[in-house]
Amino acid sequence: MNMTLTQIASAMASSIEQDHDLTVGRVCIDSRAVRKGDLFFCIVGQKLDGHEFARQAVENGACAVVASAPLDLDVPVLLVRDTTSALGRLARAWREKTRARVIGVSGSAGKTTVKEMLAQVLSAAGRTAKNFRNLNNQIGLPLSILEMDGDEDFWVLELGISRPGDMDELGYILAPDAALLVNIGACHLEGLGSLAGVAEQKAVLLDHVRKGGFACVNADYPELMQESTKRSPKLVTFSGTGARADYSCLRQENVAGAISYTFRVGHEELRCTVSAGIHVAENLAAVVAMAMELGMTFATIESALSAYSPVAQRFVQTRVGTWLFIDDTYNANPVSMARSIGEAKRLGEGKRLVLVLGDMLELGRDSVRAHRELGGLIADTGASHCFFQGRYAEDVKDGLGDYNGIFMKVSGAEEVLQALNAVRRDQGVMLFKGSRGCKMEQYYSALERSW
Ligand code: ATP
Ligand code: MG
Repeated sequence: MNMTLTQIASAMASSIEQDHDLTVGRVCIDSRAVRKGDLFFCIVGQKLDGHEFARQAVENGACAVVASAPLDLDVPVLLVRDTTSALGRLARAWREKTRARVIGVSGSAGKTTVKEMLAQVLSAAGRTAKNFRNLNNQIGLPLSILEMDGDEDFWVLELGISRPGDMDELGYILAPDAALLVNIGACHLEGLGSLAGVAEQKAVLLDHVRKGGFACVNADYPELMQESTKRSPKLVTFSGTGARADYSCLRQENVAGAISYTFRVGHEELRCTVSAGIHVAENLAAVVAMAMELGMTFATIESALSAYSPVAQRFVQTRVGTWLFIDDTYNANPVSMARSIGEAKRLGEGKRLVLVLGDMLELGRDSVRAHRELGGLIADTGASHCFFQGRYAEDVKDGLGDYNGIFMKVSGAEEVLQALNAVRRDQGVMLFKGSRGCKMEQYYSALERSW
């Protein structure tokens, strides 16, 4: 960003005693990371209160501080009612100044994957910025926006919600020119209630699309379509299952270490080959739909996608001896768990299949049911071992029914290694996956190291 302190104060509706033509290039919320000239925001979190670190931020070079309580400091203090929402308002003001076309991506699974893929594709058409890693909430989104130069051609930002009202706040901050809703699934049910509730909240993003803008929505999810058609922006549809849509993925076929996807766009059939790892056709359909609607040709999109490699911890496949290890440890909910297991099974056709899984968290009162269903799903895969870490282990085991002989509750990688000692020389596929809180990457790295 690049704004004067006076412009910043006015964007946040904060008063400041005198005009400051001091220009700020960066905001920071971590006093330890402050660099000379940064504007420090005192964010009040669940555990820490940033106001306590304001002095340290100034010592490290902050040129001014945004606070919700008076502070006695040697630099200007911009007083606001709520520092997090002031950060959002400032980001919105910076967004107003950019010439970039701004794209907001949301959905229950695959936001980061789609954001990365889309950003790579759009980079072939112009300068593109995206949010850093997974910074997608009321703090991360504004911080990401404020990191941008402003003279890019495209901004691609993911938006993550967990409670009603979240999308309204994020949509206000971003005011996208185009919205992309990848899918909906049973996640964050603790906060969002039901699948219909998830659809309703996701669709709120469409209310924030700028006049003349459009939204690309996945036609495979009836609840999502229903909510989206109620809203005003122009609707463009896509499908990962060959359903009727403006952009529909008809088929996917394996070709040497990659997947070839065939799309129907209008009356044409178009093909592109993407390196294995993207097991989800809907992600690709979403990217193709958005990029073509933004004016790119299929040929340019295809050539950009052929250079794509998956984001770390999102279904990344690695050969380890005679085995294929799949690191999908970033996160899990019922949708992504079912898809990953399905794809691991497909990749392991004719080989041994081993699942190293952890809890699917934040499902509220659906937790037990979802884990029982997971057990049922695993029973159908023909896996030889299912290792499970977490508090819902017994529910998964119940769901396995007659197949529960393959189940083992574990609390560390050592137990998995020992149990697999006899089968190491086989040909096999091993999938690692669980919610973020389970840190299943610890199993992945320990097994990869000692295999
Ligand atoms: P978060 O809410 O944590 O930001 P996200 O929506 O950004 O997640 P990703 O980080 O891209 O999603 O992927 C999370 C997990 O879901 C990974 O295990 C990934 O392989 C899987 N995944 C990605 N796309 C899909 C999809 N379309 N359907 C189901 N699972 C998916
Ligand atoms: Mg993400």
